Amino acid sequence: MLPIDYLETSHDPLFVGASLVVAFFASYVTLELCGRVRSAAVKPRRWWLWWAGGSLTLGSGIWAMHFIGMLGFDVGLPLGYRAAPTLLSWIAAVTAAAIALGIASRDRLTGWGMLGGSGSMALAICATHYLGMAALDLAPGIVWRLPWVVASALIAWGASAASLVLQLLLRRTRGKLRILIQLPAAVVMGATIAGMHYSAMAAVQLPLGTICRSVDGLSGYTLAVTVFTVSLMILGGALMLSVRDALARDREAELSRSLKRANLELLEANVTLHRQAFEDPLTGLPNRALLSDRMQHAVARIERQGGAVSGLATERLAVLFVDLDGFKPINDSFGHEVGDDVLRQVAERLKGAVRDSDTLARLGGDEFVALIEAIDAESAAVVLGQRIIDALSRPIRVADLDVSLSCSIGVAVYPDHDHNGQRLLACADAAMYAAKRTGGGTCVTYDPSMSGDTTEQIQLQHALRHAVERGELMLYYQPKVTASDGRVHGFEALLRWQHPERGIISPAVFVPLAERFGIIGSIGNWVIDEACAQLARWDKQVMPCRVAINLSPHQLRSPDLPMRIRNALNRHNVLPAQLVCEITETAMMENIQSERNVLDQIAAMGVCLSIDDFGSGYSSLAHLRNIPARQLKVDRSFVTDLADNADAQAVLDAVMRLAHALHMEVVAEGVETEGQRSVLVRLGCDILQGYMISHPMPAEAVPQWLQALQAYSVAAAK
Ligand code: C2E
Ligand code: MG
Ligand code: MG
Repeated sequence: MLPIDYLETSHDPLFVGASLVVAFFASYVTLELCGRVRSAAVKPRRWWLWWAGGSLTLGSGIWAMHFIGMLGFDVGLPLGYRAAPTLLSWIAAVTAAAIALGIASRDRLTGWGMLGGSGSMALAICATHYLGMAALDLAPGIVWRLPWVVASALIAWGASAASLVLQLLLRRTRGKLRILIQLPAAVVMGATIAGMHYSAMAAVQLPLGTICRSVDGLSGYTLAVTVFTVSLMILGGALMLSVRDALARDREAELSRSLKRANLELLEANVTLHRQAFEDPLTGLPNRALLSDRMQHAVARIERQGGAVSGLATERLAVLFVDLDGFKPINDSFGHEVGDDVLRQVAERLKGAVRDSDTLARLGGDEFVALIEAIDAESAAVVLGQRIIDALSRPIRVADLDVSLSCSIGVAVYPDHDHNGQRLLACADAAMYAAKRTGGGTCVTYDPSMSGDTTEQIQLQHALRHAVERGELMLYYQPKVTASDGRVHGFEALLRWQHPERGIISPAVFVPLAERFGIIGSIGNWVIDEACAQLARWDKQVMPCRVAINLSPHQLRSPDLPMRIRNALNRHNVLPAQLVCEITETAMMENIQSERNVLDQIAAMGVCLSIDDFGSGYSSLAHLRNIPARQLKVDRSFVTDLADNADAQAVLDAVMRLAHALHMEVVAEGVETEGQRSVLVRLGCDILQGYMISHPMPAEAVPQWLQALQAYSVAAAK
């Protein structure tokens, strides 16, 4: 057989270039669209739209690359392509793209999936090419070089597999890195697709004398340019859509991330707000708001059971009002940090004493409340009360100190003590005060007789707040005389409250109230000023003398007390030695360092400090040495027993000796009888005060009393 001569074949470089551009661009868009279809598949929104649109675009791109390449095929005779096979080749290209994108949308790709996927893609690509070639109606037909055909099929397979691997790789990368990988990947892919085409073209051999019967078919430079432009436009459009979608998705993702963050922050803020609203920050216990909410719920529950109406409630609600005894001096003397520590430890002990089902809350300061819901709530409350007292009886160790505390507890029960539960806490509070009055360290159950007390106290407290500005307070003066000669030594200023409806109220009633409700400071300041003003008036109109005022322990805790005293003395031009400050023995002994400073400053000014009600507390006589006081007032109880009680005499004798040894004057208060007076004089008492000498009187009555005293002395001397 004679060797056949073939026509020489070549490719127009312009067409080759154009086909390469399309191949690269199509590959780039393929990889991009794979990502799009993938994320649309993960979030199945318009997935099929991306898949279908993507397949059409890509298919057209791949087909255009082939078609442009074929249009640039030069065999030295005019060529034309039939429309039907050309259309079929386009369909094959779209199929290849559909397979590629279908695989790209999968979650995972197994080895077999990869093999099958890339195989079928390669088949579709080959179909694109060879169907496209079939559009050339040549006579005689093409003589195929088999190795090149095989090579082209293998390259198609390789290109398919590469595109799948690359898109898997790109799945995990985002941002700039993705573009960095996607670009070279597209170059590689484009090169393989073009490689497949041109190796397949290399398989074509046209015997000499071949004629093209489809020369009137699709051909020409204009068609190539059109296909090139249109394909680039379609691919560009797809790319733009894809990028827009990616950006929108990124924005959406960012938006949902920040929404999530905002939600989280909101949640945290809500938790914090809730905690602030319902939790006591110091102890972490429920606060007053949460307590009253729980009480309301408990009352409503019991009411539903018919408890309040029938009085036969299966359940009852007991409230334990716990108030620490002697906490304030600790707080004021050792500082708030120590005080806070003590409160935290107290809270822990209380937590240990209550049951899980009980509510334990802190109202503020040193006040705690426990709620018990039970059939036998009252007895359970009393038992719990004792447990709490026991729990607090052990000293609390804080900052190397052993702090001893006790507490007073009031118990009130719903519906027994309060029919609608609204005054339950006030009832428990009243019971707690009753416990305090008995000396503290005990648990008292509410009794209706305590109720009047509470209401009265609250009304009084309101009225007391305005007493100073309404001018309802006044000072009465009780003379103190020298025991030896009966001469006036000075006066003690004693507060009186001229209540508009109730008349004169004793300081024994309203001073503790003023201390409890924090009004004592302003009242005390008024006393200081008024006593100095009175001293100044007497200086001018009657005679220079001394006036003693009583200072409350609360006043001692105010560091500006010395300054207030100094200002009052200066304002009224009174000598410090004319003023005496009486401080009860208990207050004096409770005094720790900071208050000692206050006392030292007052003493340093030249004001006389006097220990009031001495003998009523538990202070040791040895302590007297450390106090800058110059006067000691023996408690009335000693004087009362004096005339017929040898023990009282012995005690008083010892006290006087000690006081004198410490260079202190001794004042006996509450001297009512001649018998008492004579014993006191015999024992060496310096100053006497009591009804026997005079009752406390208004300032205006003093000059007259002085005149009477003078007249009496003159008569006695005669
Ligand atoms: P205190 O300082 O020990 O005052 C003496 C109290 O004994 C006064 O009672 C006085 O009226 C009363 N008293 C005097 N002589 C006799 C007597 O012979 N027999 C009897 N049975 N009582 C006598 P008052 O005025 O009711 O004062 C009671 C307490 O109130 C005072 O005790 C003092 O601790 C406090 N107080 C009075 N004024 C003030 C004040 O301005 N500020 C402060 N913080 N407390 C004051
Ligand atoms: Mg006094
Ligand atoms: Mg006294």
